[in-house]
Amino acid sequence: MNILQKPSEHYNDRQNGAKPSYIILHYTETRTLQEAEGYFLGCREHPGGGRVSTHYMIDEDGTIIQYVNERHRAWHAGVSYWAGNDDMNVRAVGIELVNPGRKYGYRAFPARQMEALVRLCKDIMARNGIAASRVLGHSDVAPSRKSDPGELFDWEMMAGAGIGVFPKPEAEDRKVAGDYLRDEQFLKEAFIKIGYDPKAALPELILAFQRHYYREAFGDQDNTLPGRMNEAAAARLHWLVRNRTDL
Ligand SMILES: [Zn+2]
Repeated sequence: MNILQKPSEHYNDRQNGAKPSYIILHYTETRTLQEAEGYFLGCREHPGGGRVSTHYMIDEDGTIIQYVNERHRAWHAGVSYWAGNDDMNVRAVGIELVNPGRKYGYRAFPARQMEALVRLCKDIMARNGIAASRVLGHSDVAPSRKSDPGELFDWEMMAGAGIGVFPKPEAEDRKVAGDYLRDEQFLKEAFIKIGYDPKAALPELILAFQRHYYREAFGDQDNTLPGRMNEAAAARLHWLVRNRTDL
């Protein structure tokens, strides 16, 4: 795999020299690759004020650039949580996809960019022994703050390539789906069971879940579905509760 190297000084050590065990996917929310790169290399001030970085960034044409070695802790996820772990930067490899994002005109991820992402993820997973289920979005690990990579990101295609898991509800999942709509506590507990942060508010958890597992919610003409569970989404949630491994 052809990977350009542009070393950044924005990193520190992982605890105990542990190998990464997660991959976190992002979009840059910048007009250009150069703008994001300026933040990672420290030659452009980040609007958030802090210093940021990533292990990899993938341009819309599929070009892959590496900024931080995988054995180091890059600064991409910020305050984050998944399945009892906080500070996901300690455990994760970060990959940024160049995309203007919500701020500058969110648009589809081109096929060449997605193909490069699939190749890169497979390589990282194989070298570090990362389970398919441990590839997540920034919005999954920071649902109160972040919405990237967002609802235009095709997690179902990724799961088809062996990266991440995507639910395939069966009759028993559809049978109990209604229970999730009637009982907010039951619903919240299910999100926590599959890894989400117990401290996040329920509407934030629903949105994060929909961005990853029920993108159809965002194609709704009336825009009533985002942030609100329906039976089809609840059936997928139940499938994930039943089939969860390697959170
Ligand atoms: Zn992000």
